[in-house]
Order: sequence, then C-alpha cells, then structure tokens
Amino acid sequence: MSADQNRIQSPHSARRIIVAIDGPAGAGKSTIARELARHFALLNLETGAMYRAFALKALRASLALDESSGLVELAAETSILLEPGEEENRVLLDGEDVTGLIRNPTVTEAASRVSVFPKVRAWMVGLQQQLGAKGGVVMEGRDIGTVVFPHAEVKIFLDAAPEVRGQRRYEQLGQLDRKGSAAPPPPPEEIVRDLRARDQRDRNRADSPLKPAADSVLLDSTNLTLEQAVAEAVKIVNEKLGAAGLSC
Ligand code: C5P
Repeated sequence: MSADQNRIQSPHSARRIIVAIDGPAGAGKSTIARELARHFALLNLETGAMYRAFALKALRASLALDESSGLVELAAETSILLEPGEEENRVLLDGEDVTGLIRNPTVTEAASRVSVFPKVRAWMVGLQQQLGAKGGVVMEGRDIGTVVFPHAEVKIFLDAAPEVRGQRRYEQLGQLDRKGSAAPPPPPEEIVRDLRARDQRDRNRADSPLKPAADSVLLDSTNLTLEQAVAEAVKIVNEKLGAAGLSC
C-alpha cells in the first residue's frame, strides 16, 4: 500500500480510517488484525488485552470478580496502555509491562467475567476511543463495530465453528509454551468447553453483547486456513474502501 493511500481520511471526520474486527475467541481475529495492519500500514490494537490487563489487576487485588462496585473503584485508579508492535501489542498496566502475564487460563476466565459490567465497559470503551481517535488503526475485540467505533469504515465479523476455534487456540497456546511464555496447554476438549462458556457470556451479557454490527461483513473462517482468511479480509477491506472512494 502506498503512503498516499494510508493518508486518505475518513469522510466522517478528520481522522484516518478505522477497521473494526469483532468475533468470538479463537476465530483468528488477532492474526487477521495483525496481518491487515501490516498490509495496509495501520496500527493494530487488541482490546481483549486491555480487559485481560484489568482482570490481572483485579486478581492481584483478590477482588470479587462478580461484584461491580469494587471493580469500578479499581478501574478509577488504573491506567492501561497498548503499544502496537510487529507481532502483538505490548500491554502496560500502571506502567508495568504485563504482556507475558495475561494469556494464561486464569486471566482469560477473569477477563471474561469482569467485562460484563457496564461501568467497567464504559471506562474501557473511553480508553479505546482515545487510543483510536486519530484512526489509522485495525481494532479488534467484541464490540468495536457496534459500540467503540460505530462509524468505522470497515467492519468485519469473524466467526468459526467452536471445534475449529478450540483447535487453533490449542496450537496457539502450544506455541507460547514452546517459547516459554505460558504453561503447557490444556487438552483441546477443555479449551472448546472454556471457549463455549466465554462465548455464552460474551453473547448474552446485557451490555454490548457480542453480535455482528448491521453493516459488518461476515467472514466465516471455519473452512479456511488463516492465510486464506487473511486474504479474504484484505479483499473485504479493499472492496469497502473502494466502494467509499477511499482506495487508490
Ligand atoms: O480477545 P480476548 O480473548 O483477548 O478477550 C478477552 C476477554 O475480554 C473476552 O473473553 C471478552 O469477554 C472480553 N472482551 C470484551 N470486549 C472486547 C474485547 C474483549 O468484552 N472488545
């Protein structure tokens, strides 16, 4: 992509374009967001990492994860920053680099639980809107196209069958294990069970449940390799930008 294309601004404001990617865990969001960001020279922001960092802080403080008021108080004294990197975001929790501490099953489960509370979400959404305010980003999560950036120029809802997502997550955790940054993964069946539980919580929560935005493009990666899914996503972005007169 040319530098000129990257400077093209959204018709909605003076900001550059935003690509929103939402979908359940293990659908391939992180890979696709990272590759789209590389392809279009955008920044990649992983909002799940922010909920994970906050969950880590709540766990460290031994807070009840199913009780809003303590979490809301904690949020008021918490700073979370994402620094986009080549492979993944560096996550700073109150200035501490917690990138290597937030991918384990305990934090994963805790992130899913703390993210149901409207006041926690409102705080997080505010942070995410600040991070993406200038555009020029691919932002991935569960509510980016519906709540965080409803005017995003491109919205992709990425999905895949739970068994396929479980298998991918298993391989991903295995890679982290081999790099020495995580414990050995649980068996795939256990991962699928946890994914289903998280999906259910994400899809059924009262505040900003996981669902496709009305104007999102559905990308089902069940029968695609991640490379094929990335190629499809690139096509979707090109088509959307082209249709809006935003491409070269
Ligand atoms: O994407 P990731 O698996 O890292 O997200 C961790 C958890 O954070 C999810 O299970 C979901 O409950 C929550 N989340 C959310 N909204 C987002 C991103 C993540 O509720 N935008």
